[in-house]
Amino acid sequence: GKKKYTDSAAGASYDLGLPQLDIPIVTRFPPEPSGYLHIGHAKAALLNDYFAHKNEGGILICRFDDTNPSKESIEFQDSITEDLKVMEIYPDKTTFSSDYFQQMYDYAIKMIMSGRAFADDSELGKGDEDRKNRRPSKCRDLGIEETLARFKDMQSGSHEGQRWCLRARIAYDSPNGAMRDPVIYRCNQLPHHRTGTAWKIYPTYDFCAPILDSIEGVTLALRTNEYRDRNAQYEWMQEALGLRRVPIWDFSRMNFVRTLLSKRKLAHIIVKGKVSGWDDPRMPTIRGILRRGMMVAPLRAFVLMQGPSRNILNLEWGALWAMNRKEIDQVAPRHTAIDETQSIACEVRGVNGPIKSKKPKHGKVPELGEKTVLYGGNIIIEQTDGHSFEINEEITLMNWGNALVREITCNPGGGIVTNLVLELYLQGDVKKTKKKVTWLAASPENLVPIELVRFDYLITKDKLEKSDKLEDFLTERTEFRHRALADCNVSQLTFGSIIQFERKGFYRLDCLNRMDSRLTFFEIPSGRS
Ligand code: ATP
Ligand code: MG
Ligand code: MG
Repeated sequence: GKKKYTDSAAGASYDLGLPQLDIPIVTRFPPEPSGYLHIGHAKAALLNDYFAHKNEGGILICRFDDTNPSKESIEFQDSITEDLKVMEIYPDKTTFSSDYFQQMYDYAIKMIMSGRAFADDSELGKGDEDRKNRRPSKCRDLGIEETLARFKDMQSGSHEGQRWCLRARIAYDSPNGAMRDPVIYRCNQLPHHRTGTAWKIYPTYDFCAPILDSIEGVTLALRTNEYRDRNAQYEWMQEALGLRRVPIWDFSRMNFVRTLLSKRKLAHIIVKGKVSGWDDPRMPTIRGILRRGMMVAPLRAFVLMQGPSRNILNLEWGALWAMNRKEIDQVAPRHTAIDETQSIACEVRGVNGPIKSKKPKHGKVPELGEKTVLYGGNIIIEQTDGHSFEINEEITLMNWGNALVREITCNPGGGIVTNLVLELYLQGDVKKTKKKVTWLAASPENLVPIELVRFDYLITKDKLEKSDKLEDFLTERTEFRHRALADCNVSQLTFGSIIQFERKGFYRLDCLNRMDSRLTFFEIPSGRS
């Protein structure tokens, strides 16, 4: 089935310590459509999926938390829907916070009428200062009538209204900052991508989440534990409105070394032109990682493996790429590429004209089929190999057989081999040679011009601190392109194929570079450092 990998991976090794695991559970994944999904979101989505679908009858809700028109768009919303599908996460229901705007409004009125909310015009100015110093806002005692009037002003989008926000009256002096009269409604004049100009006020996440979790029937609210301080506030909202209480389960945020996992910061580096977009292979987005050559199964397994831990992690990418490598090694056909600027022309004696033959694409996986190998009296090999040869040394031409090195010609400086003469010695034992050399027949119909692209991390520091300025830690150069020549079979690959270039590593065919008609291959990190 479609989820085999996860279910076996998860079921086998997870003890998440929850008492009610054997009853159907309703969970929700609440992405804000303000960017593309990144690997941190994948953790939240997969954990919600895991709990909802572990038991018969459970439900996963994907709830678009679309309450801030300044940041959100239909493009982001659609990308999230698609990326969940790519991740093999299938919500049973998709909902939108924006479908509840009228209900949320009614709840806000209820809060005001019961004396649990007040309008505030200091929040936009020095409100934060008051909150930090545990002082009451000067508006804290604003009465019900006055608050209602200001809330209506806010709703109308009038000049006066735009100066105000609505806050829950919880406590101004609580040791828990999240309890200090949080904002529950804000003005925003921008049109919303789903509700257009119907609303000029929007509920905050702090107000939305507890209400919608309750009325949508969520029975387990998963939250990252950086929100733990907000749990009391979440409970307060449900209590204040007489709503069904929803249990919360905290899990840890997932972070990676030298990686930004914030949509706002990722959007920033796109704008700065540091990457080409949300699906750039250097991005920690689902799209970026897959474009770099990650497979879905190891990605899911790796992320779920982190599930039970509640420590805030700063993970290494290597472990994830190593898991991926094991997987792709079984399915990646093997090809040959020779570095173009480092190639040496070799004459091979003892070959009767150019010969074509069929060889398996992967020695250990015959199901992958066969490829054409061209043999001929003129081949190219790489400088690093040729440079190490000694006269009369017996070497192995991979997938062909042994040869003896008969002549080595160097440039006047002696540093570069300009020409080689080999003599086939097919009776030699390929198991006994030290050097196994990649080579390609030099005839033009055999050589496909390609480029190999390697990427580096976008930032230079393992973990950025709050005080660090992003600009100071951006890696200067993160893309390295090399020209190479590949065997003729490569021209038949479809875009997105994952292959191995023998003795180089794994690559994913991304596109055709139209500037010079070269097939562009991205190097897939091996996971070895
Ligand atoms: P970002 O800072 O990247 O914008 P966010 O939390 O603001 O993240 P949301 O769209 O609100 O983005 O997140 C949807 C869900 O994903 C939330 O439940 C959130 O807690 C979770 N999530 C976001 N980042 C991570 C992370 N790094 N690790 C685990 N879960 C995360
Ligand atoms: Mg958020
Ligand atoms: Mg965030």
